[in-house]
Amino acid sequence: MLLELDGKSVEKWVRWEDTINKGVGKFGIFTQKVKNDIKNTIGPRQTALTIWGERQINWMPSLSKWTPLESLGEDLKIEKTLWKKLKETGYYRVKDLYNPQGIQIPAQNVVGQVGRQYWLQIMALYNILKQRRYSGILNKEDTPLEKLYNNKEDNKKGIARKLYNLINTDKEYMIGIIQTKWEREMTLSAYEIDGLMEGILEIKMDKFRELEMKLIWKWYRTPPQLSYMIKGMNSSCWHCKRGKGYYAHLWCECPMVIEFWQLILEKVNAVCNINLQLTGKILFMGVLGNNKVKKPKQNLFKAMIIAAHAVIAYGWKDASKWTLERWNWYLYEWIQSDILSILTQDKVWEEKTLEIRKKWSGYVRWVREGGANNAILAKLQKVCSWLQI
Ligand SMILES: [Zn+2]
Repeated sequence: MLLELDGKSVEKWVRWEDTINKGVGKFGIFTQKVKNDIKNTIGPRQTALTIWGERQINWMPSLSKWTPLESLGEDLKIEKTLWKKLKETGYYRVKDLYNPQGIQIPAQNVVGQVGRQYWLQIMALYNILKQRRYSGILNKEDTPLEKLYNNKEDNKKGIARKLYNLINTDKEYMIGIIQTKWEREMTLSAYEIDGLMEGILEIKMDKFRELEMKLIWKWYRTPPQLSYMIKGMNSSCWHCKRGKGYYAHLWCECPMVIEFWQLILEKVNAVCNINLQLTGKILFMGVLGNNKVKKPKQNLFKAMIIAAHAVIAYGWKDASKWTLERWNWYLYEWIQSDILSILTQDKVWEEKTLEIRKKWSGYVRWVREGGANNAILAKLQKVCSWLQI
């Protein structure tokens, strides 16, 4: 969302948002005049820009060689056709107006290429570059965020993952954003958020790490948000069709999601020998754990909760996907990958199997007693006999 909208890869809802905001602030992280854009936008884009405005200096200098020229000219009365012409002739970003040695391309050359009728406007643009002292910016090394953005050959998922990790290591920022985002529904202390961030980075599987980050970061779109952007769309929960589809409702307050959680809690309570009731805090327990659970079972407890989060996210718009079957497979996938990661550690075999036994014997016992299903039992038996545990 903060990244520049390049028109090709934009998601549908971003396009809607773009229409609503009339294209204002569409340069995302490269936007120069954030303050004006905040005033002129609404909805999620306004929120994103507000946050960006606060962190811009920490993450990236406000001036960048990647800044689109068009975003520099926001104050100038420049004809739309000129931007088009500039783009067509290869002058799209600040860096395009410099040669590889960092020397500015003479304005006359540019005028010659785009047409004499634009000379006055080109001169105004050059003047802005001069005022803002762009010289030297070409030779500056890319900041992590710029590198990330320009790594376009990476697949989209890879970029998103790197972005989450980058954001997640900026603690001060994370605490701010999480507190604001959860404000009305739940209060989290800075201490808790610190724990959340550390816990998230410890999750080994990319898939689940990303899921927990998105959940805590309130990344998942809700019906009220979408109805704000799309005319005529209903803001009710798309599962029960009655309650307002707020974030907390979708995750843990909707009668339908409660039904699913009850199935999971029954399993969790049996395995961990506790009596956990459903509250909103369940959304953080996948990472933070629960102090009522005995220490040896803590890993299993977290995995069970995160697997449940994964099932709910998978059926974000389709509650029929919320099944115990899927939950069991997510849980198995988690544990299997954890076992693999222990096995690839540089330790002696006995140490590794001891660690696996410590972490997961509770799970193995539970599956053997019929807690999961036969297919999982068969798979797990194979792993166990190979490991001799
Ligand atoms: Zn509902």
